Amino acid sequence: IHDNIALAEMPDGLNGEGYFATNLEKVVALGRKNSLWPLPFATSCCGIEFMATAAANYDLARFGAERMAFTPRQCDLLMVMGTIAKKMAPIVKEVYLQMAEPRWVMAVGACASSGGIFDTYSVLQGIDQVVPVDVYVPGCPPRPEAILDGFMRIQDLVGKESLRRRNSEHYKALMGSYDIQ
Ligand code: SF4
Repeated sequence: IHDNIALAEMPDGLNGEGYFATNLEKVVALGRKNSLWPLPFATSCCGIEFMATAAANYDLARFGAERMAFTPRQCDLLMVMGTIAKKMAPIVKEVYLQMAEPRWVMAVGACASSGGIFDTYSVLQGIDQVVPVDVYVPGCPPRPEAILDGFMRIQDLVGKESLRRRNSEHYKALMGSYDIQ
C-alpha cells in the first residue's frame, strides 16, 4: 500500500493496541484506488494537458498513479484524451477489451466525451458509443485540476466497488451492446 495514504483513509474496522481487523473488500479497494495504472490514450490537444497533470506542478504521482503504460494488459484505467475518429473507434474498444478486470474508463475533455466541436461524419460522438465510461471530464481542454478531479472521482468509484461487480452476467451483456455502427 502506498506510503502516503492518510490515516483517515484507512478502511473502517476494528482496531486497538496491536491489531487491526477489517474486511477483504475494503483492504483491496484501498490498495486499488491508490495504485491505479493509467493507459493514456491521447490523440490530440487534451493529451498535452495530461502531460502537465503528470508533471511536477500537479504531480499525479501523489495519487500512486505515476506508473503509466501503453500495453493494456498492464493497466486498469483507460484515459481517452482527444478526438476519436470513427476509424479509430474499434481500436479504442479493442484496447479496452484487452485490459484485465477490474478496469475503469475516463473520457477526458469534450472530444472524448461527446465529439466536442467536431460534429462531423468522421468523428465518434463520444467514446461511450464503444466502451462504458465511468467518469467524464468536461473542458476543451480541461485544465490539469479538472483532470485530477476526474481522477479522484475514479478513486471514489474504485474505493466503493464490490470485488464481484464487473464479472456479472449483466456486465457481459452490457459490453455486447457496445457495437460500432
Ligand atoms: Fe482538443 Fe478541445 Fe478536443 Fe481536447 S476537447 S482534444 S482541447 S479540441
